[in-house]
Amino acid sequence: MISFSLSDEQEALRELARQFAQNEIAPLAAEHDRDARHPAAIIEKAHSLGFMNMTIPESYGGGGLGTMETCLVAEEFAAACAGIGTAIMANTLALTPLLVASSTEQMERLVKPFCAEPNLATLCMTEPQAGSDIGSIRTTARRQGDHYVINGTKTLIDNGGVAQLHCLFASTELEKGARGISAFVVPADVPGVSAGKQEDKMGQRAINTSEVIFENVPVPVENRLGEEGQGFKIFLQALNRNKPWIAAASVGVARAALEAATNYAQERVQFGQPIASFQAIQFMLADMAIKIEGARLLTWQAAWLVDRELRNVYHTAIAKCRASDIAMEVTTDAVQIFGGYGYIKEYPVEKYMRDAKAFQIYVGTNEIQRHLIAQALLR
Ligand SMILES: Cc1cc2nc3c(=O)[nH]c(=O)nc-3n(C[C@H](O)[C@H](O)[C@H](O)COP(=O)(O)OP(=O)(O)OC[C@H]3O[C@@H](n4cnc5c(N)ncnc54)[C@H](O)[C@@H]3O)c2cc1C
Repeated sequence: MISFSLSDEQEALRELARQFAQNEIAPLAAEHDRDARHPAAIIEKAHSLGFMNMTIPESYGGGGLGTMETCLVAEEFAAACAGIGTAIMANTLALTPLLVASSTEQMERLVKPFCAEPNLATLCMTEPQAGSDIGSIRTTARRQGDHYVINGTKTLIDNGGVAQLHCLFASTELEKGARGISAFVVPADVPGVSAGKQEDKMGQRAINTSEVIFENVPVPVENRLGEEGQGFKIFLQALNRNKPWIAAASVGVARAALEAATNYAQERVQFGQPIASFQAIQFMLADMAIKIEGARLLTWQAAWLVDRELRNVYHTAIAKCRASDIAMEVTTDAVQIFGGYGYIKEYPVEKYMRDAKAFQIYVGTNEIQRHLIAQALLR
């Protein structure tokens, strides 16, 4: 059965997220963007309302919700501020490897106490020389009896400088490349773990994106997720499950840009009439709306597949790629509709354009998504 309507519970969640976004996030978006400031107070409030760890089962302190629900919340948060929204939602991505691969004992010991507080987790994969080519990571985990010793540096890690827990991918057998990667859970207060420099980003500046350094860090064998060598598979599964809400956040930014451009077009008068009366502007607004509606449908379809644990690599890649591409296109058109004022920071649309760009890069660049889509077509 196909249905385009949300359940009463989903409508209520979306409304709650919209109110939170408008009352708590939007008023602080500009200053957090300007100062690249971590939104600690907003994260605490979000945690108290159940907006964090949404896909973790309730028995472990999470929301017990599905990917579809994370999409509804992500769109609302990103429409208010993509940086703050991502800072709140990043745990959902970072904890997915545990959902995919951890034992009941690990969930009880590592996830339950974590979710009880407004803690933050990271997904630590990227390294200075290893971005798209994950198989070339150089961080090592050497087994010594009942523990591993971790050495290496991760870069561009969301919440990296402020997190309490790292979901870390390291090589237990370098010569095996991707098949030698294993996944570990590493508390941030273990000796040898430190935050490196915080990146000075173009957009999504409210989220702390930093290096995380591991120097002779002892990690007990009980903190390994799955078996040795399963890390790459765990990582890809985690990414697939999270691409829908990244797509939804892209739709949120695009929606905010369209709303701003529509309002501005009706207010701004040139040649004695609102610029909205010119067909060139009307068609630009119409094309923006067409793109947003299409991207949201692809996003919800991908979320639907993930929630039913159906095959989803092709559709999650399409949703992530299309939604982030349209976010870039729509925000660029919004700047165009604002004319010169679109280019200055006093107006909101230049921020939307800067924020949108990141969605085309993280969780696998859109070139890597197209590679996945083509692979599925040519198989
Ligand atoms: C804001 C932000 C937040 C991030 N957060 C995290 C995080 O929390 N955790 C984490 O682990 N990482 C994170 N990253 C890193 C992100 O995942 C990587 O930047 C991304 O995977 C690309 O890697 P790279 O930057 O090394 O680019 P490269 O892999 O060097 O790619 C450079 C260019 O080459 C293209 N390219 C590479 N290989 C191919 C190919 N085979 N075919 C075609 N084109 C190709 C890419 O698409 C890109 O256009 C974040 C990045 C950003 C910008």
